Amino acid sequence: MSQLVNIQPRVNRNEIAGGLLYCHSRLNSNTTKLLESASFLYALIEVLAEKGLVQIDELEEKKQEVATRLLDSFLDRGMGVAMQEDERDKYSFSETVDIDCASRVHLCQAACCRMSFALSQQDVEEGVVKWDLGRPYLIAQDSDGYCRHLDRESNCCTVREQRPLPCRGYDCRQDKRVWVDFEKRILNPQLEELFQTSELEVAHAN
Ligand code: SF4
Ligand code: SF4
Repeated sequence: MSQLVNIQPRVNRNEIAGGLLYCHSRLNSNTTKLLESASFLYALIEVLAEKGLVQIDELEEKKQEVATRLLDSFLDRGMGVAMQEDERDKYSFSETVDIDCASRVHLCQAACCRMSFALSQQDVEEGVVKWDLGRPYLIAQDSDGYCRHLDRESNCCTVREQRPLPCRGYDCRQDKRVWVDFEKRILNPQLEELFQTSELEVAHAN
């Protein structure tokens, strides 16, 4: 007869509540500072506009330009939270493409499972597919860039039933980064270099 094992939760509710309390108080203090700065900025703009020193239309145009620049640099530094915009239920997704992976994986080395993508809220709430704690909510990858859920021996997905939407919808046949000619099985000779020099992202599911 099996023994009953008393499994202690590693983190108790009070610790989680303490962590949340800290996060919320930091958030409150940042929001207060942000409101204060925004009030000063808007007041300054109004004063300058009243004195005819700035044109609101011109300012608005400049604001868009600066916002795009800041966002690009923000994303370049890996800041912010990445979350899949497509919130379709992955279990209802029916457009999965059928590819003879078993006969090709010796060529492509499962390139699709080395690409980066963000999980959806459904994936995160389900809690099966792991995400990168340092870059929420990008798929968790090992140091060589391969997805943590790839079985290295068999090149099979260990979470196949729960795999995210991009894994279900990705179609490597059209991806010239992987195949120069899919039918003729000619791999892009630059593929490894592409992985070394940049982070390839999974093209969106249909
Ligand atoms: S890159 Fe294409 S052929 Fe290779 S494992 Fe992925 S889906 Fe299959
Ligand atoms: S979840 Fe599975 S199919 Fe998706 S990248 Fe990871 S190993 Fe590949």
